[in-house]
Amino acid sequence: MSATVLGLDGVSKVYGEQPPVHALRDVSFSVRQGELVAIVGPSGSGKSTLLHVMGTLEQPSSGTVSINGVEASSLDDRALSLLRAREIGFVFQQFFLAEHATVRENVADGLLYAGVTAAERRRRADEALERVGLAERATFKPTKLSGGQRQRVAIARALVGQPAIVLADEPTGNLDSSTGTSIMELLRELNAGGATIVMITHDADLADQLPRQIRMLDGQVLSDTARIGAP
Ligand code: ADP
Ligand code: MG
Repeated sequence: MSATVLGLDGVSKVYGEQPPVHALRDVSFSVRQGELVAIVGPSGSGKSTLLHVMGTLEQPSSGTVSINGVEASSLDDRALSLLRAREIGFVFQQFFLAEHATVRENVADGLLYAGVTAAERRRRADEALERVGLAERATFKPTKLSGGQRQRVAIARALVGQPAIVLADEPTGNLDSSTGTSIMELLRELNAGGATIVMITHDADLADQLPRQIRMLDGQVLSDTARIGAP
C-alpha cells in the first residue's frame, strides 16, 4: 500500500462566537500517495475551509492535520511555512498569477524555497510548462493568456517543486465548460504521471469523473467512496 501523504483526524473548525459557525465538524480521512480525490459539496458546506486546514494555512479548532506523517501543530511557524512551501502545491479558482512577471517566472516562483539556483529554477519551470502544454508561452505575460492557459500556468507552479500533494480549490470555477474539461484531463494526466491531487468542487458531475469522492454537507463528511467495503 502507498504511504499516507495527508491525514486528518477529528478536525473541527469554528469561526466566531455570536453565534459560532461550525465550518468543519469532526472530519477524518487520509489521502495516499498517487490518489486523485474530489471533495464535493454545495456552497457553504466547508470545502474552502477544509482546503485551508489541509494546506496548513489555517489551524483547526480541534483535531490534527498531518503531512507526510508530520503533525502540523508540532511545528513552529517557520518550520510549518517551509513544510508548506516544499510539500504542498496550491491551485485556486482565481489563478493568483503575478501579472508583471512572465509565465516562466511565475512558475519558477514555485521553487523559491527549494534551494536551487535561478538557472535551475528556470530550467525546471520550462519542464513544468512542457507538462501542462505551455512550453511555447514561457515568455508571455499572463495577461496575454486565456483563462484556461492561466490555470495551466498556476498548475505548473503548483507542481514544479514536486510537492507531496496538490490542493486545488474549484480549479475550473472561472472557466467555460470545455476549458474546464481540458483542465480536468490535465489533472488526470498529471495524476497518471504520479502527482497526488485533491480537487475541491461544487460540481457533482466533475467529481464523478475522479476515482474517489468525499462528499461534504454542513461541515461534515457525508460519504467517502474510499470507505465503501472498508470495515
Ligand atoms: P464552501 O467552500 O463549501 O462554500 P466555506 O468553507 O467557504 O464553504 O464556508 C463554510 C462555512 O464557514 C460558511 O458558513 C461560511 O460562511 C463560514 N466561514 C468560512 N470562512 C469564514 C471566516 N473566515 N469567518 C467566518 N465564517 C467563515
Ligand atoms: Mg469555497
